[in-house]
Amino acid sequence: PMSATFANQPPVDFADSHQRAAMLDALTSVREKLGRHFPLVIGGRKLDTQERITSTDPSLRTRIVGTTASASAEQAREAVAAAVQAMDAWHTSGAESRAKVLRKAAEIMRSRLMELSAIEVYECGKTWREATADVDEAIDFLEFYATGAIKLQRTRGADVPGEENRFEYLPRGVTAVIAPWNFPLAILCGMTSAAIAVGNTVVMKPAEQSSIIAGVFMEILEQAGLPAGVVNFLPGLGEVAGAALVEHPDVAAIIFTGSREVGLAINARAAETSRKSRVGVKRVIAEMGGKNAIIVDSDADLDEAVAGIVHSAFGFQGQKCSACSRAIVLSSVYDQLLARLVEATRSLPIGPSEEPSTAIGPVIDDESRERIERYIEIGKTEGRTLLATDVSQLVERGAFVGPHIFADVSPQARIAQEEIFGPVLAVIRAADLSEAIQIANSTDYALTGGIFSRSPHSLERARREMQVGNLYLNRAITGAMVGRQPFGGYKMSGIGSKAGGEEYLLQLVVPRTVTEHT
Ligand code: GLU
Repeated sequence: PMSATFANQPPVDFADSHQRAAMLDALTSVREKLGRHFPLVIGGRKLDTQERITSTDPSLRTRIVGTTASASAEQAREAVAAAVQAMDAWHTSGAESRAKVLRKAAEIMRSRLMELSAIEVYECGKTWREATADVDEAIDFLEFYATGAIKLQRTRGADVPGEENRFEYLPRGVTAVIAPWNFPLAILCGMTSAAIAVGNTVVMKPAEQSSIIAGVFMEILEQAGLPAGVVNFLPGLGEVAGAALVEHPDVAAIIFTGSREVGLAINARAAETSRKSRVGVKRVIAEMGGKNAIIVDSDADLDEAVAGIVHSAFGFQGQKCSACSRAIVLSSVYDQLLARLVEATRSLPIGPSEEPSTAIGPVIDDESRERIERYIEIGKTEGRTLLATDVSQLVERGAFVGPHIFADVSPQARIAQEEIFGPVLAVIRAADLSEAIQIANSTDYALTGGIFSRSPHSLERARREMQVGNLYLNRAITGAMVGRQPFGGYKMSGIGSKAGGEEYLLQLVVPRTVTEHT
């Protein structure tokens, strides 16, 4: 029998010279093979298109990582039709046999961990550590949901004499997966593997900026023995391919991670088009962003607080839904903390992501860089500029934005309210813990949050009062691990239950109770 336990993939240790050498080798061999083209995959058939998506390296914008086809609305509909076709056989094959495919895919990823990470370094500007962590998380999702689906299939009802009760979980149906570029393998793979683990079939629309790693993921699924049509690969533009999927009458569920604006639009559109749907009311699961705060209490260990804030605010250049974009610091430690925070941030090496020493790489593309730069200009008027890192040399080659820290920001300022998705931190002063918590809660979002404090009373208050889906006490607020910290928020941060948690799969099935009189 298949094991029903789950263990996280251990992180790569780059202090180990063998691991460093392996990553350097992977970077070289991946670089030599850049430029591949990936067609659409619909019902197992490879289809090319006139239009193409070109994916470039944000660390070096002249470097082409690869190209993919770009699906039309008509091709999106063909992909849905292929997914409909594949549904029955996939569902009836049973959770164990589906889990076998997912676990095989995990095994392939494990054996290609450095290569997949290297692709992410080039395609998304992930540093070594961020890239390997993303691949680790993708492996975790495959195994966690494979295990979870088996457990779900074994769920029993309560029998009484003369009556036998059985729960069954039927798949919802064709699921559209609309994925982001910031965790280009983990989130794509997590959303897709959850859907297929419980017997759904999928049309997978990756973000334009990370289409290549998505194409490689598709190949891995095929190598793992996934039957044709169970996952269909549909790179394309959100407005074209994504929109066609959301509206399609045969799409039963939509799993999205991305901006609040797009998430809300998908939710509205899915509701409107449910009326003519052949599969009932469409289920939308959306992960939509945050404006996350770390509170620094008057008795906090400031070294720990600085390390936690720097890691959470500037890891992957702040491009995480979970990133810390507000530090709310109590008056008594304000000046002391700021001085150390600026020093620690200033020391982070900025450069191309393939360099082993790089801590801060580029942001995803120039459009994003320009948006962040506009927020930096706003920040200069809304706060006192504590740190403005000049990266003009690097901007000549890639989409670099240096870390910025603004102090004395008002809780209602734009840079304290709007998700910037870049390396920009607003520091807000609070008179006491009550005010700090009130400020922390005064945004539309409720995703992650944290506090550094030595006082059990303050920690207890944070537990009770901070409105976030993932609360972290005395540690960084990013890097949730599958199974250990199920991830997701509420308010404007999302719809649905937590990724990497036991309940996630329940959103993707239709529960039935069958009672037999015996
Ligand atoms: N799960 C990631 C973390 O805990 C964030 C995912 C996201 O940005 O969507 O850091």
